[in-house]
Amino acid sequence: MSDTFTALVLRETDDGHVGALEQLTDADLPDGDVTLAVEYSSLNYKDGLALAGRNRIVRSYPMVPGIDLTGTVIASDSPNWHVGDEVISTSFQVGERYWGGYTQRQRLQSEWLVRRPESMSARTAMAIGTAGLTAMLCVMELETAGVQPADGPIVVTGAAGGVGSVAVALLSGLGFEVTAVTGRPETQDYLRSLGATAFRTREEMSEPPRPLESETWAGAIDTVGSTMLARVLAQMKFRSTVAACGLAGGHDLPTTVMPFIIRAVRLQGVEAVMAPIPMREAAWTRLADDLPSDVVDTITEVVPLTEVLERGPTILDGQVRGRWVVDPNA
Ligand code: NDP
Repeated sequence: MSDTFTALVLRETDDGHVGALEQLTDADLPDGDVTLAVEYSSLNYKDGLALAGRNRIVRSYPMVPGIDLTGTVIASDSPNWHVGDEVISTSFQVGERYWGGYTQRQRLQSEWLVRRPESMSARTAMAIGTAGLTAMLCVMELETAGVQPADGPIVVTGAAGGVGSVAVALLSGLGFEVTAVTGRPETQDYLRSLGATAFRTREEMSEPPRPLESETWAGAIDTVGSTMLARVLAQMKFRSTVAACGLAGGHDLPTTVMPFIIRAVRLQGVEAVMAPIPMREAAWTRLADDLPSDVVDTITEVVPLTEVLERGPTILDGQVRGRWVVDPNA
C-alpha cells in the first residue's frame, strides 16, 4: 500500500474556505481507533452545504468533508473491529466536525461504525447513505405506528430527492400504494419506475391548507417541511402517521392543532444523524433485505472525487435525481 493517498481538503480562508485535492499520509489523519481504506462516499444535501461553505456546517478546519463512507478496515485498536472487516459510517457529525469520506483513507472512532451487510456492495451502501438510512427509519416509524398497505395510500414529499427516492422504492416494495409529490414533472417516469403510482405537484401541495381537508393519506414521509407538511397534515386520515425528517422547503410549520385533536394524527420526527447504533443496524439489515440492488442502481450516479468540488454545491439547486455516490479511487 502506498504511503500517500488523495483527499479533498477544505482549508479556512479570511472569507470562508478553499478546497483542493491533496496528497496526505497516515500521519495527517485525525485521532481514532480504526483506519479504513475508503471504497465509496456519497453526496448528501448537507455535503452540498458544507462544500459551498453555507449554514456553518463545517465546524473545524482543515476538514475532509463527506458525511458517509464505507470501506475495509486496514488497522484497528478496537477489539470490535478487525483488519478486513467491511464497515459503514454515516453522520455522527463526520464531515462536519470530524474528517469524512472524500478521501482514499480515513481514521474514525470505532463506535461510529456498523458492519456492512454481507449481501450489500460498497457502492450500494453509499447509494443508500444517510439519505437512504433516513428513508428506512421513516418507513420503520410508519410500521411501528401500525400503518399497513390496506389502510390506504402513502404520500412522499420531495420524492425525486435522495430521501424521497429511497422512500418511494421501499414503500412500494413493501406493497404500499405511493403518491409522489414532486416539483419536477420530468421525474415522473423515474418515480414510476421506483413504484410511485400517483403524483401531486409541489405547487398544489405548497398551497396553504384549510385546517382540515379531505382524508386522503394513511401515512406520509415528509422531507420538505413548512407549508407542504402543514397541507399533508390537513389531509391525513383518522389515526394516521406522518414521519417528518426534512426541511427542503423551510423549517417552519404553519399548521393548526386540528389534525391532532380531531383526527388523532401522529407526527413522528425522524433523526438519522445521532441515531443509536442498534437502530442503525436494524435499518441497514432491513435495507439489505427490502431494497433490491437493481432498484438502487436506477437511482445512482457515480461522481469521481476529482469532480466533487465543482458538482457538490449543485445539489442545493434541488436538481439532483436520486443519489450521488462519490468514488475516491476513480
Ligand atoms: P435532496 O436535495 O436530494 O432532495 C430534496 C427534495 O426536496 C428535492 O429533490 C425536491 O424534490 C424537494 N424540494 C427542494 N426544494 C424544495 C422546496 N423549496 N419546496 C418543496 N420541495 C422542495 O435532499 P435529501 O433527500 O438528501 O434530503 C431531504 C431533506 O431531508 C433535507 O432537508 C435534509 O436536510 C433532510 N435530512 C434529514 C435527516 C435527518 O436526520 N432528519 C437526514 C438526511 C436528510 P422534487 O424535485 O421531487 O420536488
